[in-house]
Amino acid sequence: MPQTADILVIGGGIAGLSAGAALAPHARVTVLEGEAQVGFHASGRSATMLHYALGDALIRALTLASRPFFDMPPEGFSDVPLGRRMAVLVHAREDERAALDALEGDISRFTKLERLDAAGVHELCPLLKPDALYGIADRDGIRLDPHALLQNFARQLRRRGGELRTDARVASLKRRRDCWQVTTEAGDSFSAPIVVNAAGAWADKVAQLAGVGPLGMIPKRRTIITFDAPDGTDLDRLPFAKTVGDELYFAPESGRLFASPMDEVPSDPCDAQPEEYEMALAAQRVEERTTVKVARIHSRWAGLRTFAPDKRPAVGFAPDAEGFFWLAGQGGAGLQTSPAMAAITASLIAGQKWPVADVDKEELEPGRFLRQAA
Ligand SMILES: Cc1cc2nc3c(=O)[nH]c(=O)nc-3n(C[C@H](O)[C@H](O)[C@H](O)COP(=O)(O)OP(=O)(O)OC[C@H]3O[C@@H](n4cnc5c(N)ncnc54)[C@H](O)[C@@H]3O)c2cc1C
Repeated sequence: MPQTADILVIGGGIAGLSAGAALAPHARVTVLEGEAQVGFHASGRSATMLHYALGDALIRALTLASRPFFDMPPEGFSDVPLGRRMAVLVHAREDERAALDALEGDISRFTKLERLDAAGVHELCPLLKPDALYGIADRDGIRLDPHALLQNFARQLRRRGGELRTDARVASLKRRRDCWQVTTEAGDSFSAPIVVNAAGAWADKVAQLAGVGPLGMIPKRRTIITFDAPDGTDLDRLPFAKTVGDELYFAPESGRLFASPMDEVPSDPCDAQPEEYEMALAAQRVEERTTVKVARIHSRWAGLRTFAPDKRPAVGFAPDAEGFFWLAGQGGAGLQTSPAMAAITASLIAGQKWPVADVDKEELEPGRFLRQAA
């Protein structure tokens, strides 16, 4: 089969589209998405916050490196903002104070934090119960707009000569004569020397299709519910409010509130659906931590956050297969780190300058898991 592209990107979520757009000035890129629309899985189901209260120093460094992209989108992106400012409040009860101190120490070198006493906590988030005594606030968080991000990356990809194919689920991948021969379920064929595996929860499955060793990626389900705020709540002023432990977050969402019990239930890759237990848990934790009564759940959804065994992303060429590039394991930070991850992908594949001074290539290398396994 003749070569149809220089690079085939498998997956049209935020990872695949941002990487495809970043690679397109350097190579002929085709992005293959199995669903009829982009962002149908994790990228369209997230809580859409950019904040530093999640992950470790590596995730925070990738987030910090991505931040200028969201504040000042590149030329060619539409004028629609990629998000809006929303304060981030991490709050704690008396028994959680030490954890809050530790988190403050971890985050403070990445963003400007304000330490809040009980009055400050309740001024920022009047819905919290009086036992929320301590807080740290980052007034400079961003509630990202995933639709604007996905559409802009897709447009940028096309404008740079790349192609996006939806309804193109990859069913087989074979290496022949220095090229990957890719066939979709619909029977279409593509061929390129490099494939980028940006298949989210399916990343290990795609590797197995190609005969490449899986990395041990674990998709974990997370649930979100929406419900009415009490009458008179000034939703525009509310922050994204999170317990210091991974117990609950909530924030304003389209005239209501949304909340997640921060569940992490291991799952097979699938079209994740919310389960009764986690929805009830979300409502219960909202009522434990706030003065809000969840009288009725208005809407609900779930998505898969996919983690490598060390909870750090895997970005780089597979050591065990020529031309097979991993871009997976973004966990709960795939939106907020996407510009840096796309730039790293372009750097490693197209020989561009290494874009994130605070991150070492080795920290992201997929080979680290295979070495451990050996
Ligand atoms: C509830 C929830 C809250 C979150 N909150 C945040 C947050 O506040 N901030 C943040 O930054 N991140 C957040 N995340 C995480 C973020 O959504 C993910 O890290 C990110 O979307 C992962 O992007 P992705 O492109 O790797 O995966 P996906 O969006 O899942 O894309 C992978 C794509 O690959 C396609 N695919 C799979 N197999 C094939 C195949 N064989 N052929 C072709 N295509 C294939 C799938 O159809 C899918 O569209 C959250 C996630 C969830 C679920």
